[in-house]
Amino acid sequence: MQAPTIGGVTVPRGDGTTVVRVRRGSSLTDFADRINANPASLVTVLFHLGEMATATQSLDEDTFRLLGAELGYDVQVVSPEDEERELFEQFDIDIDTGIEDEEDANLQPRPPVVTVMGHVDHGKTRLLDAIRNENVVAAEAGGITQHIGAYQVVKEHEGEERPITFIDTPGHEAFTAMRARGAKVTDIAILVVAADDGVMPQTIEALNHAQAADLPIVVAVNKIDVEGANPAKIRQQLTEYNLVAEEYGGDTMFVDVSAKQGTNIDELLDAVLLTADAALDLRANPDKDARGVAIEANLDRGRGATATVLVQSGTLRVGDAIVAGSAHGRVRAMLDEYGTNVAEATPSRPVQVLGLSSVPRAGDTFVVAPDDRTARQIAERREAADRQASLAKARKRISLEDLNEALAAGKVETLNLILKGDVSGSVEALEDALLQIDVGDEVELRIIDRGVGAITLNNINLAMASDAIIIGFNVRAEGQNAEVAEREGVEIRYYSVIYNAIEEIEAALKGMLKPEFEEVELGTAEIREIFRSSKFGNIAGSIVRSGEIRRGARARITRTGVVVAENVEIAGLRRFKDDVTEVREGYECGINLGSFNDLQIGDLIATYEMREKPRD
Ligand code: GDP
Repeated sequence: MQAPTIGGVTVPRGDGTTVVRVRRGSSLTDFADRINANPASLVTVLFHLGEMATATQSLDEDTFRLLGAELGYDVQVVSPEDEERELFEQFDIDIDTGIEDEEDANLQPRPPVVTVMGHVDHGKTRLLDAIRNENVVAAEAGGITQHIGAYQVVKEHEGEERPITFIDTPGHEAFTAMRARGAKVTDIAILVVAADDGVMPQTIEALNHAQAADLPIVVAVNKIDVEGANPAKIRQQLTEYNLVAEEYGGDTMFVDVSAKQGTNIDELLDAVLLTADAALDLRANPDKDARGVAIEANLDRGRGATATVLVQSGTLRVGDAIVAGSAHGRVRAMLDEYGTNVAEATPSRPVQVLGLSSVPRAGDTFVVAPDDRTARQIAERREAADRQASLAKARKRISLEDLNEALAAGKVETLNLILKGDVSGSVEALEDALLQIDVGDEVELRIIDRGVGAITLNNINLAMASDAIIIGFNVRAEGQNAEVAEREGVEIRYYSVIYNAIEEIEAALKGMLKPEFEEVELGTAEIREIFRSSKFGNIAGSIVRSGEIRRGARARITRTGVVVAENVEIAGLRRFKDDVTEVREGYECGINLGSFNDLQIGDLIATYEMREKPRD
């Protein structure tokens, strides 16, 4: 139903109960897609409701509700978690790993899962190594630990053997990335602070991340072997951030350690267990199908896709059908951190799983499905949802080609650039030259970041956050970074000549970037016979060898691989006595090449067209 609405624009209206579901982070354009409206009209409607937004800006729930109420839609903003939950509900699979709905009798204690965080160079990696080396069990088994993304150690604590799981990727970046995807992996954070350096920016950052995730914190005051180390000062500094040591009347355990010399590692593990016991109810039901999170994954040349998963509830067994993110498969084998085969993995146990169809992402949830088919269906649905989400995202980003359109639509006034180059001289030269481009008032060029070296994930994240284009001068984004950029629709343009970069950006700013064309072969035909016609000139009796030959197409004639004519037109095309517009592979036809008459039997006629080339 179309009805005039405020602002003089016409928008299809709902009847007040029409439900429209949009993903969290959607824009007016996404919403417009759903209700078949013009995004620009929605901008106008919203403007009249007192809200300003561009068509591609992501809107919050309140704004969608306001707009929905005006237009007669019940707009429901769905979070990725909701979507996930609904998907699994359809297959009757519960993805909860919590203990709220479990009978007390079914719950068993499970080991705490620990992440080590802190400022760079304060000794996170070294500490993880030291903890691993303390592991008596490993020494007895003679096992050599392998990096699978997590490991378990066993600590004797108050007469009991207590396992503790450590996430083996130090730092809060990985932790935050997983958390951003809704995965709650960690129970306790060890905050490493070097006693000879003190609280640093990333210490605070790590602390904020841990507190935001509601994690109890144990502080490891590291490097106490270094001369001038001052552990008391660290305690003092951290009180400012609400981490008050027990000896000062607070409830945070501080342990002075030396990762290098292996001092007090045991005490640190005790502190982790004490903190866990005091602050957390770490139990899970091991007697059900496993659920958990993928914490690391790789494509291994010999073994195919491998993923380290952390079981959070239930027990994972060899032979289980599982789905992890959009990967699925049957667990062919499970390996622990010593490379030993294990038959089952209980809660808090990390294992490397073999047998998945593809590589899941860190933070993807995994569940055991009743059978292979269900696992595959869920994986496919997830993949489709992912694809849609990334399409929606990709649409939002900017490219040099659509800059002018975006300018005209008032979507951007600024072209944001990130410059990366091989040496600082070239980055500076490029920046200087770019800033001298004179494009008038309507658009501003801003260089929001610059640097030397390959294009990093950080650069790509920044580009995503600020709709920037990345310029790589003699440097590239490699591997996963290139994939992320592609998936997220971040444009990266590569140059090796400064002049070319300047020229293209200037052209883009002036809306004159010329499309590039490439030749696409349409079909080939071989000349079998030549008929002379006084009226038409020569006719090539031919058989179409590949593709199709179309009348009007451009052709190139080759004779034993050597080009004898270029840009000849297929002036006439006949099947028997009939004029036709096209002839397909395997059929014979008569081809008239217009004024070109120098034909021989055996010549190859290849037709092609020029297509606009998507720039890369
Ligand atoms: P990360 O960046 O936090 O992972 O830090 P690393 O574990 O890589 O450690 C940074 C540097 O500090 C390395 O040179 C380590 O050898 C050194 N280091 C780590 N722990 C200690 C320690 O307890 N004592 C001393 N003296 N050096 C340490």
